Amino acid sequence: MKAFVDKTGCISCGLCISICPAVFTFDSDRKAQADPCDVPEGSIKSAISARKACPASVIDIEY
Ligand code: SF4
Repeated sequence: MKAFVDKTGCISCGLCISICPAVFTFDSDRKAQADPCDVPEGSIKSAISARKACPASVIDIEY
């Protein structure tokens, strides 16, 4: 499973990072990034929760 963030729409709220810190972090411009984009087995549920919670709907999950 892979996670992606469309940084152009990210409003830097930090929600994804607080829900799934193993995958989502801020880059130097305080835009969220999925790094690594390969979601570790133990973080699949939280990555999906982060996608649902993102107020800007800019997180994409690929199965
Ligand atoms: S939840 Fe969405 S808008 Fe908020 S930091 Fe993450 S990607 Fe950006």
